[in-house]
Amino acid sequence: MVEALKLDKTRLDQMLNEIAKSREVEEGLCQKLSARAAKLSKKLGEIRIKISDLNHREKLIKEALIVVAGIPKALEKLRVEIMEKEARSLRTDILVEESLVLKAEVKELKDRVQDQCNHPFVVSFDGYRGSYSYDFENGHYGSRICAICGFTEQSESVDNDIYKALVEGSCRLIRRSCFLDDTAVLGSKSCNVNSVIIWQPTANIVASFQRQLDRFLGNLL
Ligand SMILES: [Zn+2]
Repeated sequence: MVEALKLDKTRLDQMLNEIAKSREVEEGLCQKLSARAAKLSKKLGEIRIKISDLNHREKLIKEALIVVAGIPKALEKLRVEIMEKEARSLRTDILVEESLVLKAEVKELKDRVQDQCNHPFVVSFDGYRGSYSYDFENGHYGSRICAICGFTEQSESVDNDIYKALVEGSCRLIRRSCFLDDTAVLGSKSCNVNSVIIWQPTANIVASFQRQLDRFLGNLL
């Protein structure tokens, strides 16, 4: 049979006192550490904001470099040739045969432009998953178009923004059409790739992208 403990009031009081003292010490430490943690947490938040700001500024400057680089001279030459031949093919004072030849040449040149282009200036149109009241039948895919060569691509589905070729990259500027509210590139306000005017002076297209960029870059330079 286990013998009962001999309870001593003095010893129990002493133990209570020891507990109270230890707790006081730990609570003091806890308060100090909590205050330090709050300061560190605030500092961490400030550092994260600074990093995010630096990332944003870096992104804008890299985008500005794409604008500065423009497009390769050889590509620009082909674009000019296409526009000149296309304009001539539409003239009424040339023979039908010449017009047909020119149109065939233009088609071939456009293929060459698309082969050589790395799609630096892309306009993106949002997809729409459709509305419940229309049984989602009014949805449509997102689409992107290169404003230099006309290469187009559809998003993988109506409610995602995933593409295979026209993806973000260090040599590519992608702008949602709603942010590129510029008639120089978007000839009409209809929301599809057909509203992008590709065969116009490259400088106009680049300038449209730059204007959009200038709004953000203005504060940095
Ligand atoms: Zn292209």
